[in-house]
Amino acid sequence: MDRQVRCYDCGKTYRLEERQRCSCGEPLWFDADAETFEWPDDDRNWTAGMWRYEDALPVAPSSAVPTGSVPGTTPLVRAEGLDEYAGCRLSLKPEGQNPTGSFKDRGTAVGVEYGLRDGHDWIGTVSHGNMALSTSAYAAAAGLEAAVFVPADTPLERLELIARHGARIFRVEGDYGRLYAETLGLEAEVGRFVNSDTPLRVAGQKTVAYEILEQFQPSAPDAIVLPVSSGGQASGVWKALRELEAAGLLDADDVPRLYLVQAAACDPIATASREGRESVSAIEPGETIAVSIANADPPSGTRALTAARETGGAVVSVPDEATREAMDRLATAAGISVEPSSAVALAGVRELSRRGELDADEEVVTILTGSGYKERYDVDVESRTRTIDLEAVERELAAALE
Ligand SMILES: *Cc1c(COP(=O)(O)O)cnc(C)c1O
Ligand SMILES: [Zn+2]
Repeated sequence: MDRQVRCYDCGKTYRLEERQRCSCGEPLWFDADAETFEWPDDDRNWTAGMWRYEDALPVAPSSAVPTGSVPGTTPLVRAEGLDEYAGCRLSLKPEGQNPTGSFKDRGTAVGVEYGLRDGHDWIGTVSHGNMALSTSAYAAAAGLEAAVFVPADTPLERLELIARHGARIFRVEGDYGRLYAETLGLEAEVGRFVNSDTPLRVAGQKTVAYEILEQFQPSAPDAIVLPVSSGGQASGVWKALRELEAAGLLDADDVPRLYLVQAAACDPIATASREGRESVSAIEPGETIAVSIANADPPSGTRALTAARETGGAVVSVPDEATREAMDRLATAAGISVEPSSAVALAGVRELSRRGELDADEEVVTILTGSGYKERYDVDVESRTRTIDLEAVERELAAALE
């Protein structure tokens, strides 16, 4: 299968094993036979998960990975109850429903299948949590070893989730950006590490946009909004839109605008956008509750910024208060519990509507990247519970619901 990777920016091509980034400095992605892609027949069952789009992927699924671990085909939920809050016609893509609770499973599945095909006995990643968890679980499912590198200050509750799958976990002191780059360049191991913006991961992650566009048929959403950290998922979504356009399945006039959202305390891509710069550079980060997207030096930052610009979208950032409020609205008005890094996207939708970037009659899809059921959050339990006597059940119930 195709091992050719290409630079989105200057167009140079390489073999996958040859280089991690283009000589121009920008990241690479796989070429796909985009012109020949067609929407799968209905009889290619939705239980195939993301492998429904196998024709557009650089590797096919093998029987080595149990089907219970298949990512993808998460629902597209129309969330009318949140339209007023969002300021548009809102649909949600709850990626927390993937097997390990985040969209990372899509990219991991491609990385694991590729590793199996090449006869590797281990794969690695560098992550703040979700990607390490996903890689550990999929490696375990496929009978591979996993080597995961996390920052030394990663919370214990996150490490416990990862450790369940038997991965080798390294807690690294030192600069995260350098760790990310160094693992990719490790001699003889090039291609083993499936970090957040590598060609294998981006190939898997583009399937979320294939799904959104297929689920939205016969029309297309006006905009897609997602949180951004390394820029890997944003790159994948953009790539999918380009491929669907090349395949003639999406009219040039109908390509959704891509809006990317960051936490205000750590927003290098939004900063570059605000300042009208062509490329993204590292910033000095502050603290945020959106820990999964706190990357101060994003490896695909410039590619993500380009994706937003080229599609007529934008990159914005939101304060933690707005994120907390959005997280609460999702839970109370849509029944979906997400982690703060996902709620950032809904807070971003509200901000974009306020700025007039999104209209009340526009169809907007928000990708909810990760589940809220993995970690503890501050919820005021006292104000939302009541301790009562057994004898008082009937009376209290009537009083509460009247
Ligand atoms: C990884 C992650 C992101 C950011 O994705 P990138 O590809 O790094 O931009 C957003 N939300 C959650 C929950 C994540 O785990
Ligand atoms: Zn290049």
